[in-house]
Amino acid sequence: MVNFIQQEIENDLKEGKYSDGIHTRFPPEPNGYLHVGHAKSVCLNFGLANYNGGVCNLRFDDTNPTKEDVEYVDSIQEDIKWLGFDWEDRKFYASDYFGKLYEYAVELTRRGLAYVDDLSAEEIREYRGTLTEPGKESPYRNRSVEENLNLFERMKAGEFPDGSKVLRAKIDMASPNITMRDPVIYRIARAHHHRTGDDWLIYPMYDFAHPLSDAIENITHSVCTLEFEDHRPFYDWLLDSLGFDVKTRPRQIEFARLDLTNTITSKRKLLKKHVRGWDDPRMPTISGMRRRGFTPESIRDFCERIGVAKSNSLVDIALLEHCVREDLNERADRIMAVLNPLKIVLTNVEEGKVEYLPAENHPKRGDKRFVPFTREIFIERDDFMEDAPKKFFRLKPGGEVRLKHAYIIKCEEVIKDAEGNVTELHCTIDPTSKSGGATAGRKVKGTIHWVSAGHALKAEVRLYDYLLTTDENGNLPEDFIAALNPDSLIVIDNALVEPSVKLTGPGKHFQFLRLGYFFTDPDTTPDHLVFNRVVGLKDTWAKVKNN
Ligand code: ATP
Ligand code: MG
Repeated sequence: MVNFIQQEIENDLKEGKYSDGIHTRFPPEPNGYLHVGHAKSVCLNFGLANYNGGVCNLRFDDTNPTKEDVEYVDSIQEDIKWLGFDWEDRKFYASDYFGKLYEYAVELTRRGLAYVDDLSAEEIREYRGTLTEPGKESPYRNRSVEENLNLFERMKAGEFPDGSKVLRAKIDMASPNITMRDPVIYRIARAHHHRTGDDWLIYPMYDFAHPLSDAIENITHSVCTLEFEDHRPFYDWLLDSLGFDVKTRPRQIEFARLDLTNTITSKRKLLKKHVRGWDDPRMPTISGMRRRGFTPESIRDFCERIGVAKSNSLVDIALLEHCVREDLNERADRIMAVLNPLKIVLTNVEEGKVEYLPAENHPKRGDKRFVPFTREIFIERDDFMEDAPKKFFRLKPGGEVRLKHAYIIKCEEVIKDAEGNVTELHCTIDPTSKSGGATAGRKVKGTIHWVSAGHALKAEVRLYDYLLTTDENGNLPEDFIAALNPDSLIVIDNALVEPSVKLTGPGKHFQFLRLGYFFTDPDTTPDHLVFNRVVGLKDTWAKVKNN
């Protein structure tokens, strides 16, 4: 693991810091499902701990009771486990520390480093100043320690209405860093908390709770995204003010968040209303990617390859798809399926005869299955063209093509309905051209996939495209509702797949020859097969890379 955070860790160890070992944490707020950006943070935090022989905690940052829910607590754990990481017995909640956090706030107040302010939220904002103007001190800033302790205790006891008072750190209203201008650390909120119920009427602010939760858990490296860089001075001020030793106390290190082309990775913006749910296979959520058929290995590989940077940049989603494709290429069995069927009658194959032809399951392995071949088959409608250009090497009137694992066929007759639509083809096989047979080497330019009409199973196939359309650089427009791709889901009800998949349940990968990688959806039942297309076969990453 070579990245600048690892370098910082090694420097710290060299300086004699953190002699008890490296301890990281992944700190999600349980206010939504994890997405691909969180996957990067999960891989990084657990990865750094593993690499350094340390440990990583799971901590729910649940200081915002109105937005949080146990549904999210459950889904987050499921997703991290699925990604392949283990917090063992170290699952914590910031709310576990409400008592201790309150004590720390009292201690700050006692040291004259926090005060109760009666200004309204709006006044606090006005007094805060701007990037170019210093802030103004609140008229309540110089209350005595006794008065502050008394008022803070009464805030906790419920004597004051919501929003009427806050506790603020007493730092510097003229600081060039606005987050150091006496940040609010406690607010009054009569909100029901999913874990502490109605025990608390005051709640700590994130910037106060986070560093202290890190310190309470003996975290050494608190890794977070760049937008918290301005908050680092407060992180350090707080731990300094409360006397935590620099040699052992946590330090914050920021890295660039993952932004992907075609993708929104903000929980606040994820388009819940426009898809079937958080686990819709078009969503960049971990549960959506899982349902679609992405593997944990491919997501971990992706997170490794994008690395860790100090400045934000946009990663091409083609790289993620490349990682998925590479992994599925290894693990997925090959089968034949026809999405848009065109019937063929092979006029020189005996009616009722079934020939079972051996077909390899994977090009890198020796195992085979047997595919039934009969007089009536289906091919992909696109694989036939009546007025074909010269370079069309699939089936055309009078032309020849090889049926994968089977024979070379020749198109003898095109049958049409009254409107002139092609309804079926009559073809003949060359019986000497059987795949693997003595004369199978006879060359024709094209090979196509097919299924036996009497044996194929009906399946529902869901084809996905990006949920959002972007400009040529992969940037999303401001108004992402307008950017919704109307063709992001195409459902094919009457696809046909070879009978070998008959007893396949949800959660299995296949490569449909020539069509892409597919995954059986949880909607699959014994009599209704549902496949999600994970990714197509064409890799656009190589192209991007070589440009
Ligand atoms: P919201 O989108 O609602 O602001 P969030 O994405 O910041 O939420 P958190 O639950 O606070 O969600 O995130 C948990 C951890 O994941 C944090 O440490 C955060 O820095 C990290 N994280 C969140 N989004 C990304 C991203 N796009 N890339 C890398 N890390 C991320
Ligand atoms: Mg956040």
